[in-house]
Amino acid sequence: MPFTIPFDNTYAKLPEGFFTAQNPTPVKAPSLIAFNYDLAQFLGIDAGERDEMAQIFSGNTLPDGAAPLAQLYSGHQFGNYNPQLGDGRAILLGEVIGTDGIRRDIQLKGSGPTPYSRSGDGRAWLGPVLREYVVSEAMHALGIPTTRAMAAAQTGEIVYREAGFPGAVLTRVAKSHLRVGSFQVFAHRGQVEDLKTLTAYAIQRHYPDAKGPMDLLRAVCAAQSALIPAWMSVGFIHGVMNTDNCAIGGETIDYGPCAFMDAYSENRVFSSIDQQARYAYANQPNIAVWNMAQFATALLQQMDNKEAAVEEATAIIHAMPAQIEAEWLKRFGAKIGLSDATPADQPMIEDLLAMMQADGADFTNTFAHLGTDIAQDQFTNSAAFEAWAMSWQARLARETDPSATMALANPTIIPRNHRIEEMIQAAVAGDFRPFKRLNTALATPYQRTDADLERAPLAAEIVPATFCGT
Ligand code: AMP
Ligand code: MG
Repeated sequence: MPFTIPFDNTYAKLPEGFFTAQNPTPVKAPSLIAFNYDLAQFLGIDAGERDEMAQIFSGNTLPDGAAPLAQLYSGHQFGNYNPQLGDGRAILLGEVIGTDGIRRDIQLKGSGPTPYSRSGDGRAWLGPVLREYVVSEAMHALGIPTTRAMAAAQTGEIVYREAGFPGAVLTRVAKSHLRVGSFQVFAHRGQVEDLKTLTAYAIQRHYPDAKGPMDLLRAVCAAQSALIPAWMSVGFIHGVMNTDNCAIGGETIDYGPCAFMDAYSENRVFSSIDQQARYAYANQPNIAVWNMAQFATALLQQMDNKEAAVEEATAIIHAMPAQIEAEWLKRFGAKIGLSDATPADQPMIEDLLAMMQADGADFTNTFAHLGTDIAQDQFTNSAAFEAWAMSWQARLARETDPSATMALANPTIIPRNHRIEEMIQAAVAGDFRPFKRLNTALATPYQRTDADLERAPLAAEIVPATFCGT
């Protein structure tokens, strides 16, 4: 049976100007690195023969029913508005409806230039492709909303960055690729009809109960308010929370210079281009609110009664910090075993984090082993930690099953930077075993399946910075 994808495309039917029809550019010698059988099955796609899948997931063959296109969008990058971005190295093949009834995009990333590429080559190299594959699938296994990876293929071509690297294409699956920037582009150009069409499309696709733009804003704010504390609860730093990387469907999207913290530090930044620390770990809630304010501004362009709408939108945005705080408390409460943490518990969580910060405690291992010597050993000021642990134990007496709560909130295995780097270096040298090992272990991050991957990096192994590496 030939490889088929049961496409059911809707975005391609939106008005001209929302996108540009664009085929992937064929590559020299495609080979398949990985195919995500579980995800494919979930989407109702049967695996095909390997060579055939290599042709499709490198962009050399178009599967039947695909309507390849590059999407238009704009966005604020590091706070500055860029009037035209768009898919410069990604091509939407089409949409499928999963076994859960939800529509999802299938997109090739690194599949060649588009009219939105401007200076870029439209390509990706192996490193970022494998990083996104591993980290997005890890996020999914952690239970955090995210785009997913269905396939990775090598192109057999060299991509030039700081040096020449093997080219690769990632097949990304997302609830949609609608971003804040998708709305901003029409709002800024004064294309009110297009803005209305896009708003209606987003509502129908993601939040069918929403009655209009302000309901949509409310729903997206709620999704962001849940997402960012979820990131923080596993020590995740997105690294480039530009409005074009902020998905309306509430998924984590665009794994560029992202990283998971080893030693806890609330000001941690990994991205080499984030000079002002705009996207530092603890600044992510502020940025989410800022991004939603940009979304509100864009949506407002279509409102008839502007004055009332501005008032409503302002109230929605102003409600966000408290929503984020409540989600944060729920997440971090669970990490110390509290099934229903209240604001009265917040100082206990903050005290622990302050000690972790002062002592450079490993974020993941401290929480995963709280109550054991492994956690205790993270602290140089052991007297302070012991005092904290005493009051914590006293608080736990009011919980029914704190261990169970903690086990569900504290992963033992996260994609640590040094493992990602090691995996990339091996892959560039042709060895994909570390890539497979990481994928396997990260599929069950709350289970202790690979002690060596739980380990924090030794001083010599620490990877201090990540690069966009497009
Ligand atoms: P990102 O930082 O990945 O969110 O990308 C920001 C913008 O740059 C988007 O419009 C991308 O499509 C574009 N872009 C990034 N890398 C490339 C590339 N290699 N070729 C063309 N466009 C690119
Ligand atoms: Mg992007």
